[in-house]
Parts: sequence; structure tokens; C-alpha cells
Amino acid sequence: MTLDLIIRDARLSDGAAPVDIGLAQGRIATIGAGLASDAPTLDAQGGLAFRGFADSHLHLDKACILERAVNRTGDLKGALAAVTAAKRDFTTEDVYARGARVLEQAIGQGTTLIRTQVEIDPVIGLAGFEAVRQLKRDYSWALDLQICVFPQEGLLNYPGTEELLRAALAEGADLLGGCPYTDTDPEGQIALLFEMARAFGVDLDLHLDFDLDTSWRHLDEVARQTIAFGIQGRVAIGHVTKLSMLPPAALAQSVALLQEAGIALTVLPATDLFITGRGHDHAVPRGVAPAHRFHAAGVCCTVATNNVLNPFTPYGDCSLPRMANLFANVAQLGSIEELTACFEMVSSAPFRLLGVSDRIEVGGPADLVLLPCESRASAVAEIRRPVWGLRGGRMTFEAPAPRILRP
Ligand SMILES: [Zn+2]
Repeated sequence: MTLDLIIRDARLSDGAAPVDIGLAQGRIATIGAGLASDAPTLDAQGGLAFRGFADSHLHLDKACILERAVNRTGDLKGALAAVTAAKRDFTTEDVYARGARVLEQAIGQGTTLIRTQVEIDPVIGLAGFEAVRQLKRDYSWALDLQICVFPQEGLLNYPGTEELLRAALAEGADLLGGCPYTDTDPEGQIALLFEMARAFGVDLDLHLDFDLDTSWRHLDEVARQTIAFGIQGRVAIGHVTKLSMLPPAALAQSVALLQEAGIALTVLPATDLFITGRGHDHAVPRGVAPAHRFHAAGVCCTVATNNVLNPFTPYGDCSLPRMANLFANVAQLGSIEELTACFEMVSSAPFRLLGVSDRIEVGGPADLVLLPCESRASAVAEIRRPVWGLRGGRMTFEAPAPRILRP
């Protein structure tokens, strides 16, 4: 067998003995110890090879707009108002350029799979969607992009939005999102989204319950509809920061509800920490849903970036190990098992949510990312940055470790 490249001395799981991985014609041809071949080699130096990080919730269309959109109040209302005003000037070219900047940063951080949330309404029309659809094609050499179109400004209260969403779904959007809390008729929006998802045969991924008031929530209605429509395993919900305010018994009931309805939970710690709890001038609540409790109970849970350099989150480098570390820190998780779970929430879990295999096996694609550490827990604890990535056997990025220059 003629190999194109051999990766020497890579670990495929925590604590496993290092192996060599032989690649041919864009696929994994062989895996074993001490492979004999004169093919070019790449030394993994005992690092951890995996399929890369997956960001299950990332807004490319409104990223990198800090210089033109200011959140005057710091809360959700201020963020929504700032983006609504700035969006009037969004064009396809503008969204493409900012989205490309973010995607290139994500590629360099070892992200290989992204679900991007794209706003659709009569002001932006399909301009953002068309830009992101082009980005999906133009960056397919490095990552897979799933496009989730959604009505950020409301659906039933904003005539014309539904028709545009239907047009985007007919023209290649992968799934449908929602934002019931910005609608004048939240339950009506939820009902219509489920109908549309069934009509187009797509999954749902909704922004939900994004505040800290536990006197009401939309979660129960979404769970009820998920079961009624028989689409357990095809619905995800993001933020759900209300869950962070529940005492143990109520939280256990919510865990059981998500298990029963087969709903995935996505936490967006950078945004949730920045936006929620603004009404407190001391003892500010953290406002991050305890995803580790749901993960431990078998609910598909992901930790994701959400926003980069905009009124919802004025930070961002697209690093998912950093996001997993932030979640671990906020949730006070420190054991090997807990840190490993945090790694899973930015890798295997979002792969599963997005319906993509992350197995590394003979015959599979030569898609590999290398972490310069021996375990997933240390990748989270130390925020280790991947050092290279391969897709179809071709190198997609290199980020060598700093070289110390002694006197
Ligand atoms: Zn979002």
C-alpha cells in the first residue's frame, strides 16, 4: 500500500499507547504501532489526535461589529436594539467578510464543524443567508458549516418573516431556529416553528428562556411539542439560563423533562455571563445553565461560542477549549471526570447533535486535529491550542507551540 503521509506517535484516546496513522488518498489507510513505510512523516510527539472541535452555536452574520453597534444598557434588550439598528447596513459582502474572518480564526483553533445561526427578517432579507451559504462552499476545504435560519426579531409579530424563512429553507438552509422570547406571541411562534420543521423535514434549534426569572418559561411547551410531533432527538435549545436559578428538586425535574423529550441543551457561557444578572449590583448570579448535570444524566449537552465581538459578547477568539474552561470555572468543575465531560461538550457531543461522526477509523476520512497534550482533561484545564489540522489528508492550519529562546 502506498501511503501519502504517516502521523507518528499520536494518541487516539486518554492514556492510550501512541500509534502511527497512515493516510492515503484523503482517507485513513492504516493504524498501528511502528508502521513501516518511507512515506513523509508528521511527528505527533505523543499528542492527542481527534476530529477537531465542534461549535454548535455561532452567529457569523453579526460577528465583529463592535465599532458600529454599542450595547448601551449591557443587557439583552440593549444588545438586541444595537444589532437591530446595525443590521440595516448589513450587506451580503459585509456579512461574508466578517464571517470569513471568524471562520479563519475558528479553523486556526482546531474547529472543524460549526452550526451557524443566521437572522432572517424583512430588513436583512436573505442577504445574510446568501453570504453564509457562500462561506459554507468557500470554506468546505477546512470545515463543515450547518446553516440554521431563525427569526431574531420575532415571527408572528413581523409580517414577511415566515415567507423569507420558508424561502431560505427551500434554498438550502439546513435547519430552523427560533427565538420565542422576542415574539409578541411566543407560544404561537413555537407552534409555527414545529409545523415548518415538519414541512421541511429539518431539525430545530431554539434560543430559549434567556433570563433568570423562574416564574415562567417556554421549556415545557417546547418539550410538549417535541413529544407531540415525535421528533425526540431533533430539537436543541440554547441559553436556557433560567435553569441556573433552579434549586435541586426543580432542576432534577427539568433534567428528566429533557431526557424524556430527547432535547439537547446548549450553554453559551460567554454571552450568558455578560448579559444576565444586570439587575443586581452585588452578588451577581452567574446565569449559566448547569449543563454538566444534564450531561451526566445522558442529555446531549454542548458548550458553544455564540457571539464574537458584538453587543451580546464583546470578546471572542473562537477557542472552544477556552469556552470549555470558562464553563468548568463557572460551574466549579475540577476533577479529571468533570473536565473530560467539558471536553466532550465541545467535541463528541456537538458532533452527535449535528449528526456527524467523529470516529477515527481505517477507511474514514483523514480529518485529524492534534492537541499537544495527552488527555482531554488537560486540554480543558490548560486551554491547550491545537498545533495542526488535516482535512482529507491536507494540512489546513499550523499553530506551532512557542519556542523558548534561552540566553
Ligand atoms: Zn444565539
